[in-house]
Amino acid sequence: MSDTVNLVILGASGDLTHRLLLPGLGTLLKAQPDRRVNLIGAASEKLGADEWRQRVSEALHDCGPKVADAVATGSTYVTIDSTDPDELKKLLDPLTGPVVLYFALPPAISMKTCEALGRLDLPDDLRLAIEKPFGSDPDSAHRFNQLLARLVPEDRVFRVDHFLGKSTILNLLGLRFTNRFFEPVWNHNNIERITIVSDETLALEGRAGYYDHSGALKDMIQSHLLLVMALLCMEAPNRIDADELRDLQVHVLRATQLWSDDPVGSSRRARYEAGQVGDEKVPNYVDEPGVDPARNTETLAEVTVEINSRRWRGVPITLRSGKALGDEVRAITVVFKEAFEPEGFSNSGEPNVVVIGMADERLAVRLNTNGADDKFVLEETVLSADLGDSPLRPYGEILAHIMDGDPLLSVRNDVAEELWRILSPVLDAWQQGRVPLDSYRAGSAGPTNWS
Ligand code: NDP
Repeated sequence: MSDTVNLVILGASGDLTHRLLLPGLGTLLKAQPDRRVNLIGAASEKLGADEWRQRVSEALHDCGPKVADAVATGSTYVTIDSTDPDELKKLLDPLTGPVVLYFALPPAISMKTCEALGRLDLPDDLRLAIEKPFGSDPDSAHRFNQLLARLVPEDRVFRVDHFLGKSTILNLLGLRFTNRFFEPVWNHNNIERITIVSDETLALEGRAGYYDHSGALKDMIQSHLLLVMALLCMEAPNRIDADELRDLQVHVLRATQLWSDDPVGSSRRARYEAGQVGDEKVPNYVDEPGVDPARNTETLAEVTVEINSRRWRGVPITLRSGKALGDEVRAITVVFKEAFEPEGFSNSGEPNVVVIGMADERLAVRLNTNGADDKFVLEETVLSADLGDSPLRPYGEILAHIMDGDPLLSVRNDVAEELWRILSPVLDAWQQGRVPLDSYRAGSAGPTNWS
């Protein structure tokens, strides 16, 4: 049986806690019922103990009524202004054993809360879980890192990236580094281009308060897709552990720059207009409650980068993410250079393509094979396989790693700053209006002028 971990969620009345954190905890406790968790919710909202327990019990339904009720019954809720050091002290002082302080707070409040923590004697075994977005530019990310470094050692800071769950990371590493036929061709001699796409059919869903200040570039490309790229393109690790992987991630990110070093030519942005996704009518983005059209927030972003290394120089890597699109696509597509074909076939083969799914965890490899009827005609054959998913939701995996003190799934301080460094020229160019804000119909594949 494990030690009891105090899981203190600041911002416990918010959307993240309700929709993702608690259900994730449910899947974790279902898979590992011996874990002992003392759950404490805290937020500025006044909430009765019974109402909180009811919310916890409902959100944990995945782990079965017995475990859900046990966690909910032992759980407490505190009304707090987390930026007030005295109130934080009252919350933390009575706790014994490991404490995970999860910041499910608006980003500006998280920073102020860390400033307040800096005035306290903190518990010995305190871990801080920080949500995205981590900072809003390279300077603010650096300042936030400095602030955190004054509170706890770096290996107790968990910058959360729920997109890169454990199974996605391990599937990528397993595929690349345990198959002899992948690794020798994983370079600019053989690969023509790479795209990493996370398109969703969901529109704003009432989240203007967050999204209209963020947009697709910060929400997805900065926070998630560059990290996927780093794992896909890094050098071979000698072992799978947090230090090794993060050293290799930062190594590849440091070599990453915008394509041709040109923030205007390497980036595109667009915003959705009224349309229909499946059976759902979607209003114009600018008419959604809480949206300020003057912010020019993009709902679709695309950036092409190059890794200026011996392995990757000259290979365009395009990262794209958008909302309210016709198809849900979460995939890495690696397109190989054309093969040198002998003369004599009546048509020419297509380049090989490897597609790695990031949501459905599937692999597809496109090959040329000879036609059954006419061996001189080349046909496309797709080999596909399931890569194996995890029984835990991503937040279940994240909480497990934080409670175990293993930073494998968290983003290290230097990695977080590199992500901003790469994209900040694009943010500047967009701010200055140097890249047009195109539009697309909700439910379409994107702007008609984007090929
Ligand atoms: P919400 O606005 O829904 O919730 C914020 C929470 O913070 C509320 O519980 C609010 O309490 C509380 N709060 C605000 N100020 C204080 C304060 N001074 N003291 C104590 N509590 C306070 O935000 P989300 O849950 O959506 O997001 C939280 C974080 O998670 C953000 O950083 C976001 O970027 C990140 N995130 C969110 C995702 C999502 O899908 N929601 C996905 C990934 C990351 P009250 O309601 O009483 O004001």
